[in-house]
Amino acid sequence: MFNEDLYSKELIFNTETMKEKFSGNIVIDDWKYIELLNGEAKFLSPVKVQLLIKRNSSNFIVKGSVETSLELECSRCLNMTESKIKSDFEAVYIDESVIKTEKTEHLKSLENYIEFDGINLDLTERIIEAIILSVPEKILCREDCKGLCQICGTNLNENPDHKCEEDYIDPRFETLKKLLENNNSK
Ligand SMILES: [Zn+2]
Ligand SMILES: [Zn+2]
Repeated sequence: MFNEDLYSKELIFNTETMKEKFSGNIVIDDWKYIELLNGEAKFLSPVKVQLLIKRNSSNFIVKGSVETSLELECSRCLNMTESKIKSDFEAVYIDESVIKTEKTEHLKSLENYIEFDGINLDLTERIIEAIILSVPEKILCREDCKGLCQICGTNLNENPDHKCEEDYIDPRFETLKKLLENNNSK
């Protein structure tokens, strides 16, 4: 599985000691890297989770939002840039022993249904999933990123006056040009 080393005891709730409701904020500041669908990314700020957990007979309804920022590659200029991540999530955690003994088909049909051991509610996977799914497809280091020169790959943000048509001659042609010039001058 992805991201097995990401773990926080703050995301594990003991339901035996939990009251009807829990709401609060959690800050995880020791996660360093996350495995995304297309590679690894570095966390640039703590993972902030806003949570509401409600007990509902044998299941727990969890709603919340997660916020952090990751270091990702700009889709245009390929420089690494900070990308803010913000996502809402929802999940219903159902005691696995209840699933075995009762008719819970209506619960299983829920989209974000997760089984748990009846004691420890571990939100880690759901949080990681929420982060991964909210990574934007297109990342820009800035709104007006000018990207790279299509011909030579020069970063056009750093070299705003760069124009390949005028400045750049393929070194192979440069030699050819010199040869032609030499011939002409003879
Ligand atoms: Zn860029
Ligand atoms: Zn160029």
